[in-house]
Amino acid sequence: MLLLSAALFAGVVAVSATGFGRAVPDPAYAFLQEQPYAAGEPVTWRPCEPIRYEVNPAHASGSDDEAVARVQDAVAEVAEASGFRFRYVGTTARRPADADQLAPGPAPPVLVAWARADEVEDLAGEVAGIGGSVSREQDRWSWYVTGRVVLDADAVDDADDERATLLHELGHVLGLDHVDSRRELMHAQSAGQEDFGPGDLEGLARLGKGTQACS
Ligand SMILES: [Zn+2]
Repeated sequence: MLLLSAALFAGVVAVSATGFGRAVPDPAYAFLQEQPYAAGEPVTWRPCEPIRYEVNPAHASGSDDEAVARVQDAVAEVAEASGFRFRYVGTTARRPADADQLAPGPAPPVLVAWARADEVEDLAGEVAGIGGSVSREQDRWSWYVTGRVVLDADAVDDADDERATLLHELGHVLGLDHVDSRRELMHAQSAGQEDFGPGDLEGLARLGKGTQACS
């Protein structure tokens, strides 16, 4: 059982985009960003390439190997729900602030890290984690090319809570926004929901389908 917690999830998209949320009632899902030249189409990852990710286990509970394994388990669930392939590239010393600016050239892997509010301001208050991705536009189509998940090392204190937070933030990384329904894990507030709900799963599958062939 996930203990009821007052922790809030916060989604952060590290790009300057106009806010976009399309709530679809029952089952509920919403996308963080819409394609600028294709109304209704979500911004997400290229379905034909694996989403590379790395883990900085500093501040996580347990050993580094255990922290990495917990992330890999959560990623496997998101991969299955979405159809996206992920590739773990190893541990890193990269910190969340290093992921704020996207330099020209190849984008770095998605960073999964633990931090405290004195390092990552967005974790202040009752925030359990943040997650989001950065897009690049090519040929009038936007793709996410990197992203980050940061778990609050102080607020996430048991394994079930951590797992639910990881799944939620990875949902943001793929392109899901918050929804009002408390049946969904993409609800903004942790309310005892442990697993993806029906809308979450439909939204993830929709994101993973992709509507543009990769070139
Ligand atoms: Zn959130």
